[in-house]
Amino acid sequence: KLHNTVLELKGNIRVLCRVRPLLEKERSVTANGGEMPVKAMSEEVLRVAAVDNKAEKEFEFDRVLAPDEGQDKLYDEVAALVTSVLDGFNVAIMAYGQTGSGKTYTMEGPEGNPGVNLRALGDLFRIAEERASAFTTTFSASVLEIYNEQIYDLLMSGAQDGDKLDVKQGPEGMYVPGLKLEEVKDMADVTAMIGRGKSNRSTYATNMNEHSSRSHLVLSVYVNSVNKLNGNILRGKLHLIDLAGSERLSRTGAQGDRLKEAQAINKSLSALGDVIQALQQRNAHIPYRNSKLTRLLEDSLGGNSKCVMIVNVSPATENVSETKCSLEFASRAR
Ligand code: ADP
Ligand code: MG
Repeated sequence: KLHNTVLELKGNIRVLCRVRPLLEKERSVTANGGEMPVKAMSEEVLRVAAVDNKAEKEFEFDRVLAPDEGQDKLYDEVAALVTSVLDGFNVAIMAYGQTGSGKTYTMEGPEGNPGVNLRALGDLFRIAEERASAFTTTFSASVLEIYNEQIYDLLMSGAQDGDKLDVKQGPEGMYVPGLKLEEVKDMADVTAMIGRGKSNRSTYATNMNEHSSRSHLVLSVYVNSVNKLNGNILRGKLHLIDLAGSERLSRTGAQGDRLKEAQAINKSLSALGDVIQALQQRNAHIPYRNSKLTRLLEDSLGGNSKCVMIVNVSPATENVSETKCSLEFASRAR
């Protein structure tokens, strides 16, 4: 039996916490006798020091990744889930956290040190190759963005305001009618596709930095695996999600369009929190319909599916209150 470890995990949802290193510009402000306010105490416990009259607090996770644990360590924690997609599972891996906490670093990674996305695809291609005598496996992928509760297809170029996409339930699960799926055969196809997605995103987003912090970016991989002996088909899908920044509304001091954006982000992230909490508590009703994001993930969070939430946090003093908010959000998910 392949990938047994996945099935043995308790519950469907694992919550990891990744503390990024202190950035150069944060060094002078945060150095507090060498003690960092946010610190991995063990592989499972993160401690946030007492600040602003609030007591020190410890948070427990399935795994805490310290600042010096690189992309390979992080990927090790999700590899079994990724490859279970080849056995017909639906899997979602998402990076949560305030803007600047390391979500994009975790999912995309810098040039030369790839994050989850490329490692996952590399792994899938490699294992499909290894199983090629028993299974014929094909892959396709899509890149979409959810911004202000609207879905945009990033593999389609040009203005998209006219053709807003929706999420529907089909015989094979949740899907977005009209969304472009592209066949991908190797890493060259993947990097070309991601590159096109990025360039489409930057043409319609006037300020990329602001835009990326306000939208959810979803790279989805669809696997079709045909058993050569009996013709059985296994279908699995993997959603790789760089979530919108979780920073609170009050701090952005938003008005008008900005306020509308902030409310949409809050709505979908709190809808995500509600869904995850309802799943963990095994509630009869799971409120998937409260946001586009949760609706899209309906068949990748509940039932026969697996999910990892990576909560990214900054170690810096100036971010401690947002860090605590992210950790509280994560605590609801466990
Ligand atoms: P976000 O996507 O959450 O806004 P980024 O991924 O852009 O945050 O990270 C913010 C900054 O921190 C970037 O300069 C990034 O290179 C750096 N960074 C984040 N995580 C790490 C890490 N694990 N190791 C080294 N640098 C990191
Ligand atoms: Mg980012």
